[in-house]
Amino acid sequence: MARAKPHSFFSKRLSRQDVALDLGTANTLMFTAAQGIVLDEPSVVCFDRRAGAGDAKAKATVAAVGREAKELLGRTPANLETVRPLAHGVIADFSAAEHMMRRFAAMARPRSRFGRRSAFTVCVPEGATRVERRAIREAAFAAGAARVSFIGESLASALGAGLPVDAATGSMVVDIGGGTTEVGIVALGGVVCSGSVRVGGDEFDRAIVNYVRTLYDVVLGDQTAEHVKKTIGSALHGEPVGRARATGRSLADGLPRTIEITSEDIADALAAPLRAVIGVVRRVIETAPPELVTDIAGNGIVLTGGGALLGRLDQRLAAELGVAVRVADEPLTCAVRGAGAAAAFAGEHGFQAGE
Ligand code: ADP
Ligand code: MG
Repeated sequence: MARAKPHSFFSKRLSRQDVALDLGTANTLMFTAAQGIVLDEPSVVCFDRRAGAGDAKAKATVAAVGREAKELLGRTPANLETVRPLAHGVIADFSAAEHMMRRFAAMARPRSRFGRRSAFTVCVPEGATRVERRAIREAAFAAGAARVSFIGESLASALGAGLPVDAATGSMVVDIGGGTTEVGIVALGGVVCSGSVRVGGDEFDRAIVNYVRTLYDVVLGDQTAEHVKKTIGSALHGEPVGRARATGRSLADGLPRTIEITSEDIADALAAPLRAVIGVVRRVIETAPPELVTDIAGNGIVLTGGGALLGRLDQRLAAELGVAVRVADEPLTCAVRGAGAAAAFAGEHGFQAGE
């Protein structure tokens, strides 16, 4: 692998007010070298359609974004519409993404003081198409970017996890987000092999909802399922068994019913999506050059993204793949911190980001 030219985008005119942006399916984060993480909110926007219902312009009235809007998901009154603008790592509702980013920039700015001339480094899935990249770039412009460059999510996550991405030795990073799992092997400052599957934390939540409906005849809300996953979720059967109570609507009489769910239930519920995650990691290892496979066997695999926090997922992957697996420190912020660090890294190593 040839090394990129030393005169990269990053080596030019970087300031401590420049912004790293991780516009994720589940969460949006912004980071500046001067202030650290200046925004960390769910990627959700809620529109008030009261003024002229049915009118496209009415969508422009943003009632809430982020945490506040996420609380409204699944419990929105008729005049409000709650939207998640991203799906599977890319923008699905462009106008909603722009409105959300404008608000997020305003929320981040008092702390970060980034100006309208800031350069943004934005994480993108390795496999994003030109059209998908353009949509992400426009969303960054809506947030006040003067210039936008991209960094692949695997490379950003690996950097944020503190892996030696510029070494000749390969490192493997598995990022499990809301809508996708991205797998990459990085070496010499670039991604050598990668793969992704459209399965992540959202799919885990859906699998829990389906499992509980089938087994208990109770329909849980997505957020309840997510809460259960976070508190007692496990990717492996066995001790210790966690227990949680969850309330949903009984299919029998339509009334509220509270059930007890165990971590064993969750391990059963997540069987299919976990198979998909394990499958994509296995495929990337299978297609990697033998030298890199040797490196991974020696160095292990690092998990990033919120999905990495699923209970005993590291143990499950280690058991299935026969390779050491560890969860990165602060997995939810790896990508944005890595994108921020790419600047310094670029200066030292001549790494070049995509256009
Ligand atoms: P994205 O990059 O797609 O925005 P994130 O990396 O922010 O995604 O991860 C969000 C996902 O991580 C959500 O599906 C969320 O439910 C999941 N998650 C967060 N914390 C935990 C936890 N403790 N256990 C299991 N899953 C978690
Ligand atoms: Mg992510």
